[in-house]
Amino acid sequence: KTAIVLENIKKVYNMGETQIFALKGISLTIREGEMVAIMGPSGSGKSTLLNIMGCLDRPTGGTYYLGGEDVSRLNRNQLALIRNKRIGFVFQSFNLLGRFPVLANVQLPLVYAGVGKKEMADRAREALDWVGMLKYADHYPGQLSGGQQQRVAIARALVNNPSLILADEPTGALDSRTSIEIISVIQRLNIEKGITVVMVTHEKDIALYCRRLINVKDGRILGDTPVANPGNAA
Ligand code: ADP
Ligand code: ADP
Repeated sequence: KTAIVLENIKKVYNMGETQIFALKGISLTIREGEMVAIMGPSGSGKSTLLNIMGCLDRPTGGTYYLGGEDVSRLNRNQLALIRNKRIGFVFQSFNLLGRFPVLANVQLPLVYAGVGKKEMADRAREALDWVGMLKYADHYPGQLSGGQQQRVAIARALVNNPSLILADEPTGALDSRTSIEIISVIQRLNIEKGITVVMVTHEKDIALYCRRLINVKDGRILGDTPVANPGNAA
């Protein structure tokens, strides 16, 4: 089964008089259970591509099938629903809410999903336990290290049982030892939970923990190759 099918995806940003052609016709199929890295220089369109895959933004042209369903013509509310049900996000800067304890941060996607209070707490604790952060449930993000915050962010990403996780430079703010620990958690998401993972990174050694490497340049795919011996971060 396919997780993501992109057919000739284009994205144009209108900046007053000028148009920026951020994606110039991207075609790509990612099957369920894959773990894919996207690399490319700054400004090549990686974030734009991830935003479209994540239903955060709509393509200017082309067709996007998410789990077999054409989502390229859905409106903002419909996209928000799909996002909440099926996609988890992990960011470089963790994006946790500093005024709320860890448990509340992890529960957040469930609030939008309308889950009851008791079930929210149970599921958030389960997700925190899975990333090894249950004992920090009552801490605040500011009391945690970068690696711990990213674990919490991963718990938040998986609390809705998504079929797809999109990670934008998930190790970009971490030292190399902590980066490997986080990659190990992401590999477990992929292998133990069978979640499809698409990760943007500019670090080649991090990309080589994925099983497939896609190179983007100037809004186009320059290369798409399997990784011969993907690293095992466990
Ligand atoms: P990358 O993630 O590879 O650095 P981006 O997808 O962020 O690349 O950007 C691709 C191109 O699109 C760049 O030229 C960038 O300046 C432009 N761009 C990205 N987002 C916007 C936006 N919201 N408005 C206008 N231009 C944008
Ligand atoms: P990154 O590549 O690290 O994710 P960027 O600097 O490319 O971050 O983009 C950060 C945000 O700014 C994104 O939401 C992107 O869409 C927006 N952006 C990028 N380039 C431009 C631009 N030229 N004009 C307006 N917004 C932009």
